[in-house]
Amino acid sequence: MTEELKQNSAIFSKTWYEDNTKSYAANHEITSNQTCDVAIIGGGLAGLCLLQNLIKEGVDALLLEANEIGKSASGRNGGFCTPGWALSPEGIESLVGFKLANELNQFSKDGYNWMVNRICSENYRSIDTKKGVLSVSCSGSPVNEYPESLRLIQKDELRTLLKSDRYTFGVFSEEGYQFNPLNFLNCLQKEIVELGGRIFTNSKVVSMDYLKDLSILKVNNSNFSVSAKRIVFATGGYGGRETSPVSKSILPIQTYIAVTSPLTMEQKKIINCNWAIYDTRRAGNYYRILPDNRLLWGHSITALGTKNTDKIKKNALKDIASIFPELLEETAPGKNLKIDYAWSGNMAYASHMMPYVGQVKPNVYSLVGFGGHGMNTAPAAANILGDWLTGSSDKLKIFEKIPYAWNWGMIGPLGAETKYLYLKLMDRFSELIS
Ligand SMILES: Cc1cc2nc3c(=O)[nH]c(=O)nc-3n(C[C@H](O)[C@H](O)[C@H](O)COP(=O)(O)OP(=O)(O)OC[C@H]3O[C@@H](n4cnc5c(N)ncnc54)[C@H](O)[C@@H]3O)c2cc1C
Repeated sequence: MTEELKQNSAIFSKTWYEDNTKSYAANHEITSNQTCDVAIIGGGLAGLCLLQNLIKEGVDALLLEANEIGKSASGRNGGFCTPGWALSPEGIESLVGFKLANELNQFSKDGYNWMVNRICSENYRSIDTKKGVLSVSCSGSPVNEYPESLRLIQKDELRTLLKSDRYTFGVFSEEGYQFNPLNFLNCLQKEIVELGGRIFTNSKVVSMDYLKDLSILKVNNSNFSVSAKRIVFATGGYGGRETSPVSKSILPIQTYIAVTSPLTMEQKKIINCNWAIYDTRRAGNYYRILPDNRLLWGHSITALGTKNTDKIKKNALKDIASIFPELLEETAPGKNLKIDYAWSGNMAYASHMMPYVGQVKPNVYSLVGFGGHGMNTAPAAANILGDWLTGSSDKLKIFEKIPYAWNWGMIGPLGAETKYLYLKLMDRFSELIS
């Protein structure tokens, strides 16, 4: 794809993060045949965490990434990190029962703590970390009591932070961070390279031959190959036919981010809050103020086709106006809010919204399906798979208890879009009756 086509396609279009990358990015295309014990396919957060885990234990592992590090979901997401999974705690309990749900809840916290240890460390200073997450509700009323870690913010106080008539109350949590995910990946990549890890970028696995004790991966038009005793698919929502052992379990779902022009002093009074913010609607928004005072606005999903950047910009402005009409009101000439960046990314969702982690055939493993909540869950699962591969823990067995979910083939995307429309309707209905 030419550079011009890439910029027009939302899935590749330049993100605000790319214009604000301060940290290390190395690119090493594969230039000779390789052998290893474990070959990881996919250099998003899941693949990189697994690689780091394995090489720290002395495993001869390498990673193959089709693009550059950070071009896919892990480097172009909202930059929120909180405990939990894409599926709600209630949903997990009804899927696997109370006991396993508790274990999975703990895994999600372990992944969150793994991230916090890095986010707050000196090596990751470039990632613009901020603590604190605010959830805002458009309907319903607060519960009677909140745990000590949460603080209820009633409507009047909330209006001093967010000038919107749509919100009825908010809940603040200290547990949660925002950061620049692209810089995070670059820092992680740097740590791995300093440990001697082999990361090959622009090195797409195009086909595989599975022999009993060895898999042969053909890379980039079959010029080079990698022989590996074990392989791991960490291909997220970006895999093609070559990822068939895992792709039947997940659907790639696109989601969208827009970044506005820097807010003026007047506009900053409307969003007078530097926490990471999300609303609790079933198909809601998440947003935050970036270090240069722009508003990052996350919204919408599609499973059938994609929106182009013009459409994302238009939809985002409409969406922002529905929550903060004053932000879009005409101010002084040249001070109108506009969208400077618009992009999309693929999330990998299984139909039950939990990941697919474990052995899919002898010596072939899956590490995919983190949906819209991968910043803690991808590291959690990667470390558990890494510990299984080195024989130091058998926690992986918990993931095997999550039932296999087929992606519904050709009708899967239609089902996903219908569900999203239904959730949006339910949101409107809840607001109307509240
Ligand atoms: C717009 C957007 C906003 C989001 N916001 C948040 C958020 O705020 N907080 C949160 O927790 N989560 C968020 N998510 C979800 C989160 O980004 C993902 O769950 C997470 O990044 C998944 O990581 P991954 O490593 O599994 O996949 P990816 O990061 O997608 O990496 C998969 C990699 O595999 C590579 N690959 C695929 N096929 C091949 C092949 N054949 N050969 C070699 N390489 C291959 C791809 O190029 C890609 O780099 C968001 C996602 C998107 C798209």
